[in-house]
Amino acid sequence: MPAMPAPNVPAPFRHDPDVLVIGGGIVGLFCAYHLRLAGLSVTVVERGPVGGPQSCSYGNTGFVGTQGALPLAEPGVMAQGLRWLLDPESPFHIRPRPDPALLWWLWHFRRACNERDARAGFRVLVDMKKRSLDILRELCSSGDLAPAFTAQGMLLTYRTRQGFEKACRSVPATVAGGVPLRVLEPGELRELEPDAEFDVHGALYNEEGAYLRVPEFLTGLARTLRGMGVEIHERTEVVGFGTGGGEVRRVRTTRGDLTPAETVVAAGTWSAECARGLGVGLNLQPAKGYSITVKAPAGGPRLPVLLGEGKVALVPLGDRLRFGGTLELSGMDATVSRRRVDGILRTVRTYLPGMERTEILETWSGFRPCSPDGLPFLGRAGSYRNLSVACGHGHIGMGLAPVSGRLIAQIVTGEPPEIDLAPLRPGRYGGLARRLRLRR
Ligand SMILES: Cc1cc2nc3c(=O)[nH]c(=O)nc-3n(C[C@H](O)[C@H](O)[C@H](O)COP(=O)(O)OP(=O)(O)OC[C@H]3O[C@@H](n4cnc5c(N)ncnc54)[C@H](O)[C@@H]3O)c2cc1C
Repeated sequence: MPAMPAPNVPAPFRHDPDVLVIGGGIVGLFCAYHLRLAGLSVTVVERGPVGGPQSCSYGNTGFVGTQGALPLAEPGVMAQGLRWLLDPESPFHIRPRPDPALLWWLWHFRRACNERDARAGFRVLVDMKKRSLDILRELCSSGDLAPAFTAQGMLLTYRTRQGFEKACRSVPATVAGGVPLRVLEPGELRELEPDAEFDVHGALYNEEGAYLRVPEFLTGLARTLRGMGVEIHERTEVVGFGTGGGEVRRVRTTRGDLTPAETVVAAGTWSAECARGLGVGLNLQPAKGYSITVKAPAGGPRLPVLLGEGKVALVPLGDRLRFGGTLELSGMDATVSRRRVDGILRTVRTYLPGMERTEILETWSGFRPCSPDGLPFLGRAGSYRNLSVACGHGHIGMGLAPVSGRLIAQIVTGEPPEIDLAPLRPGRYGGLARRLRLRR
């Protein structure tokens, strides 16, 4: 009689793939998608369940489209950040600690806070977001993924005259950069949102605003990938590597070893730790954010909305509504701060006073994988012929992942990349990252 498999022992890998993708968040899944389209056999390993709360791709507000392409590092942000440090409900916080990796990251962040770098970063990110939007439009035009993608534009609202005037001043440059942003005439906000009662000074509208409903989009994409022949192994963690002859030869996981021809590290904020196991340094910091999902109240908005000065995003999800915000550089501490959650809820109530009572269904925190200059790390890494990384997508990873996956497929297959990859080089901060440990 054949031996029965022992319960809870994970099934071994069936075969060694052409490409192993480490990480089943939005970036890893889009790498797998484009690698498979390129005709390669692909395996994804994910430490938790795909679409599970351990992943930053789980509980975010899912904004895609052209909005939000300005890097976090822009002129004036350091001064504003210092003012916010003293406010326990503010949208930004750094937990001061003697962590060399954090100091090194902050030093590069501060250097990137200038007009020239912010503009250059914006150009790269808008281009990537436009390409990603095209991919999403095609992928979600019908079938399983269509209900998880909505492209009806988005609103940016401002409570104060100064905030609104500052936003209006930025419109011409934003439009010149390729983003269809416009100032709404008085009355237009009510036409677009007849049921929502906004208490704001003014609003802008981006017709290329769109959003993904997560985690449904992730689980749907995983189903699509399995249908295409991609093997996805959940609850499987990469724990080490074997190298030799300028190659990654072996990847050790909790399910056994694999010897893929190519390896892609797409492990979100954990990519730094993963790559360090190969002696590759990545200047990444986890930037914690929160989302609060509530039962959709009467008088909630129909479109996704950014609450400008409060830095809170709001996304309608059918019978639910989600608010997302805050950026905390506090290491890998997933604790939810009650005061910051209250700060988000208070911000929502000041912009939308009609939403006084909300029934909270879930409060979640996730780590945005942030590079100092706001650009992802995409490309060959270290001195290995067969290692690539795809991480560092920061606060806009949902909107950058589709094209990031295609760029990784172009790198792996040797096809000329569709955009200049120089600004995205994983090694652009030099080798120091390798020696600095990211503190937990
Ligand atoms: C509150 C909030 C709101 C946000 N809103 C938006 C938004 O509106 N629009 C937008 O574009 N972006 C948004 N973001 C950012 C976006 O969520 C991230 O940029 C994106 O999810 C990063 O995707 P990723 O695949 O790189 O990382 P992740 O989604 O974190 O995926 C990495 C995966 O790798 C796995 N992993 C790690 N180590 C290992 C290992 N050793 N072995 C196997 N698996 C491993 C992890 O379990 C994880 O699932 C938001 C983020 C937050 C926190």
